[in-house]
Amino acid sequence: MLPERQKLIRSLFDEYIEMYAARDDRLTSRFSKNFTGYTGGGDFLVKDVHDWVRITRQDFEQVPGRLRIELTDISLQDIDETVVAVTAFFHIHLPMPDHILSRETARLVLIFRLEGTDWMIVHSGISIPYHLVGDGEVYPIDGLRKRNRELEALVEDRTRALEQAVGQLEAQSNTDWLTGISNRRRFDSMLREEWNRARRVGAALAIVMFDIDHFKHFNDHYGHLAGDDCLKSLAQTVEQAERRAGTLFARYGGEEFVMLLPGMDLPAAMKAARHIQQAIRSRALPHHGIPPGIVTVSLGVASLTPSDRVSPEDLLREADLALYRAKESGRNRMCSANGSQASPGSRRLPF
Ligand code: GH3
Ligand code: MG
Ligand code: MG
Repeated sequence: MLPERQKLIRSLFDEYIEMYAARDDRLTSRFSKNFTGYTGGGDFLVKDVHDWVRITRQDFEQVPGRLRIELTDISLQDIDETVVAVTAFFHIHLPMPDHILSRETARLVLIFRLEGTDWMIVHSGISIPYHLVGDGEVYPIDGLRKRNRELEALVEDRTRALEQAVGQLEAQSNTDWLTGISNRRRFDSMLREEWNRARRVGAALAIVMFDIDHFKHFNDHYGHLAGDDCLKSLAQTVEQAERRAGTLFARYGGEEFVMLLPGMDLPAAMKAARHIQQAIRSRALPHHGIPPGIVTVSLGVASLTPSDRVSPEDLLREADLALYRAKESGRNRMCSANGSQASPGSRRLPF
């Protein structure tokens, strides 16, 4: 094809597409009297130029803003002296937030014929892979928008279900499977969180760590399943007894439990520990074969005010050490990190 013919055909196309995209009514004057057209969406061949002008104006009214035509491929054909054709492939970006048409590839065939001195459009056929349009539409925007909304609703539903599942998994990963209270993982992360918070505000942070006395004997005597039930009952008892906001009660491992008490100095934490001990005593879960005849615990209490010189591990170590001393000095009692202890019988405690 001669370069000038090629240039001519391309300029006819460019002019057409610019008027179409700009919603420029002058386009309607470019259709030949012998025009035929195919709207794609309408699925019928329009044989009357007046009908085509009406459809074009309806198109401009339905989407009055400027379109952006993203050309992906074009073929120019020089059919004879007076007839040329263009086949173009493109994405139509409508001036709307939902990307209704922009993902579809449209194919437009335009045939121009030289009538007198003007190149007139004698055929325009557009093909967009979408369904038939409704009444009063050139683009099937309503249908596509509905489909879009349905897809979005579906995505939202799935997202919500996924979030719920993630939430459940997170709760599960923070919960002790046997007793239903918090587990060690949750305790460790809360210890760090509360430590940092206490450090910021200059407050104390306390821990009560306690362990069932002679639990191996309990299992040996009653069986492992009864041992499980005992752990559950004990956890439930303590949880009900210590419901202060901000405290965290967790199963630290095996038959060992821990209570995190933000803002408490040692005397306050000892008081909380005594409360726990009392609640367990009052529950009086039978434990034959050891002196009091009921399930008892030994408790270790520690409190620190976070600073550069101490760490959460120090607090844990102190509580652990205090618990160890409570065990060493006869069980069924509590010890604090500063060395004081309270034995089972003593009502007035020496701290
Ligand atoms: P102490 O007074 O020194 O704490 O003695 P103890 O027998 O309680 O301590 P030891 O560490 O010797 O034994 C702990 C027992 O706790 C042994 C273990 O089988 C039992 N145990 C740990 N976790 C569970 C559990 O989930 N279910 C049951 N039934 N028993 C458990
Ligand atoms: Mg024990
Ligand atoms: Mg133990």
